[in-house]
Amino acid sequence: MTPVEIKVQEKYLQIKWDDNSETKISLADLRRFCPCAICTSQKDTHHHDYIKVFSDAQIVLKSINIVGNYAVGVSWADNHNTGIYDFNYLKKISDL
Ligand SMILES: [Zn+2]
Repeated sequence: MTPVEIKVQEKYLQIKWDDNSETKISLADLRRFCPCAICTSQKDTHHHDYIKVFSDAQIVLKSINIVGNYAVGVSWADNHNTGIYDFNYLKKISDL
């Protein structure tokens, strides 16, 4: 599954997929599910019910780019840019 169009609308990311389905995810959730090593290890060191709270700058997108042909790389306004979301993962965390 490959995204053919990614749009930012207000605080949501709207993704159109090559099977014509569309999903969306809030930027806060996108940030929360950041798959990079830093964020993943933060989750591990905290209790399982730990919820990270983000400031406004942390959930403002700076840019999105396609990485290889399997993932999107997300850059946030606070310069966090290590999150690489492979398409399947992105599809899984976003909703119809
Ligand atoms: Zn991260």
